[in-house]
Amino acid sequence: MPMEHRVHVLKLDHRPERDKRVTTHAALVSRAFGASKFLVSGVCDSNIRDNIIEVNERWGGTMDFECVTNPLSYCRKWREQGGQIIHLTMYGLHIDDVIDEIRSNPSSKLVIIGGPKVDPVYYKVADYNVAVGNQPHSEIAALAIFLDRLFKGRELYLEFSGGTVKIIPTARGKKVERKGQS
Ligand code: SAM
Repeated sequence: MPMEHRVHVLKLDHRPERDKRVTTHAALVSRAFGASKFLVSGVCDSNIRDNIIEVNERWGGTMDFECVTNPLSYCRKWREQGGQIIHLTMYGLHIDDVIDEIRSNPSSKLVIIGGPKVDPVYYKVADYNVAVGNQPHSEIAALAIFLDRLFKGRELYLEFSGGTVKIIPTARGKKVERKGQS
């Protein structure tokens, strides 16, 4: 299912008691919107991993999951290997002013999303600090809009290989086909 850019998403400082649903939703958005790996720092939460595995098994695709114990050194290594880092923050440059430049660079992209407080070091390690508008909202919304602009909407037509079921779009109700039984 490859898109034209390899994108991994890193959620900083995950805390299960505070972030369970938000981080799970960020992982689901990452998968559905074309990223190939979701990483968390903070608490290594097996619920997030299990959820991704279940969704892949049912709906297809192969998005990976990883817990990162030292996210800063992970970021530095990512850059040393030629990857680009994009940190989503309301304090950054407006997405409209940088997205074409980011898209035109073929390097693999690590997209960082935070929680309530992000260590200032991530503003420095990033190639781009990108704002999806300069108002506070949510890492899930910021991630979805960033990926959609990066892929120009093509990610919404991704076909996920494998899995057991597939939705047949319908005007009313729910139509789900078992794969291999059309
Ligand atoms: N002070 C934060 C900031 O720097 O954007 C807002 C905290 S918000 C609860 C958690 C995360 O949502 C942030 O770390 C950032 O990744 C993302 N976020 C929130 N609003 C954003 C915006 N307007 N543009 C880009 N990312 C945003």
